[in-house]
Amino acid sequence: EYADISLKDIDQVSKSSFPLCMRHLFEKLREDHHLKHGGRMQLGLFLKGVGLKLDDALAFWRAEFTKKVGAEKFDKEYAYSIRHNYGKEGKRTDYTPYACQKIISSAPGVGDHHGCPYRHFSEDNLRAALGRMGLSSRGMEDVMDKVRNKHYQLACTLTFEAVYGTSCDAGINHPNQYFEESQKILK
Ligand code: SF4
Repeated sequence: EYADISLKDIDQVSKSSFPLCMRHLFEKLREDHHLKHGGRMQLGLFLKGVGLKLDDALAFWRAEFTKKVGAEKFDKEYAYSIRHNYGKEGKRTDYTPYACQKIISSAPGVGDHHGCPYRHFSEDNLRAALGRMGLSSRGMEDVMDKVRNKHYQLACTLTFEAVYGTSCDAGINHPNQYFEESQKILK
């Protein structure tokens, strides 16, 4: 078990340990101060999975959303679903973070930022994002080759191996697994 992440570390950890799908959602949230429903679910449950506590999660989303909407609107329209994800509302189901398969098979529409970048980004956007993660042109071609063959999780695994300079024999099948494997290496 890795240590739960706290709010003050979240930006640094997002850069060091989040898989591309979550880095993208995190950056868009910081940039736009908003995410549509699919993005809030995908990122919110992932953050719960990395150990962000409910109070910190509320503070995190509130700080971004209230740059655009009033605090009252946030509390009325968005806070409920965050508590809901943590099993504090409705049927009190403890919702689990999405696995890669579910994310890859989702269908993000215009203005949505959820989904799997290997599956849903244009080639240009994916190359730019991989460049920002520090991939060499050789590493990038290996990743793009997997993408062309629709092996999105293998593309993500190759990215992991290039970023951390180590093999990931299990392969990536869950964003939270990516996070945990990376934390093991960085610790
Ligand atoms: Fe996220 Fe999985 Fe896609 Fe990697 S393969 S970017 S962890 S959905």
